[in-house]
Amino acid sequence: MKLAVSTALFLAGLLTAAAQAPLSRMDRAWMFGAEYVQLDDWARANGGQARWVVPKQELKVVLPAGSLGFLVAARRITLKGVHVWLSAPIVLRGSSAYVAASDLTGTIHPLLFPPRPAVGRSVRTIVLDAGHGGKDPGNQEGRRQEKQYTLLLAKDVRDLLTKAGFRVWLTRNHDTYLTPESRPQIARQRGADLFVSLHFNSADGPGSSAVRGAEVYCLTAANAYSTNDRGEMGRRTWQSGNRQDARNLQLAYQIQKALVERAGSEDRGVKRARFAVLKYAEMPTVLVEAAFMTNPSDARKIYDAAQRRTLAQAIVDGVQAYKKLTER
Ligand SMILES: [Zn+2]
Repeated sequence: MKLAVSTALFLAGLLTAAAQAPLSRMDRAWMFGAEYVQLDDWARANGGQARWVVPKQELKVVLPAGSLGFLVAARRITLKGVHVWLSAPIVLRGSSAYVAASDLTGTIHPLLFPPRPAVGRSVRTIVLDAGHGGKDPGNQEGRRQEKQYTLLLAKDVRDLLTKAGFRVWLTRNHDTYLTPESRPQIARQRGADLFVSLHFNSADGPGSSAVRGAEVYCLTAANAYSTNDRGEMGRRTWQSGNRQDARNLQLAYQIQKALVERAGSEDRGVKRARFAVLKYAEMPTVLVEAAFMTNPSDARKIYDAAQRRTLAQAIVDGVQAYKKLTER
């Protein structure tokens, strides 16, 4: 493959006022039709350094803003201790690792260098969305239906948020059917500052009962690949939810971090998707897959009221951490 080191300065225009060094000054390369930045160079330009933990496989970058872990050929990175999925894999070229420039500007920089003075307006009103309902049961495990437990979790989260002084609304209070598109509309009508959709996961196939953990989704950036990209080709256009890209990502990161640290969930990472609840929302929005109904230890967190409250408390902690960032 032809490797052309780019000297163009056009990326400089994409950068905001945050503290990161401009990509335009770094060693860049075009691969697979996209622009990549040498991680070594990126680390140095941001006042830190990169070193191989396992040569040509695993790289650690330590910056004043926090440390990151990268694996060659993988899209999942570790950012300040939490897993985050990139749109494109890390590429090894010669003896250097490269990261896609769009992942630096769209994912890594907004989390490492959140824009100042605020990532959003103040957070007061929150709309919680209990996934599924009515004729749509969601995942089913025996007689247990996802829609029942998302509602129970939503009510737990509501009670804790209300106690913490937030105004909280639910998209549904009962076993009623709502279209995916109508849910963000309800959030808008209620004047929500944040919108959080709650779900439980399931896995199938051999070994599926071992799959467990939490993952939090936010909307895929325009033109980028979703984490589980299935036939999105040609449909990577800008959506109204993309107005909140940096805030969506920060909210997803803070809730994921809290689920891992507070609720002890296995870290499946911050992921990107173009779900309807994410696409059509106008305020910062995430979709939480809090645990797996198909894993025995995760299932207890869902079905046991006390353990479910721990999941709820973690989600509330994530919201509080996000709110704190908006008020720096
Ligand atoms: Zn669901």
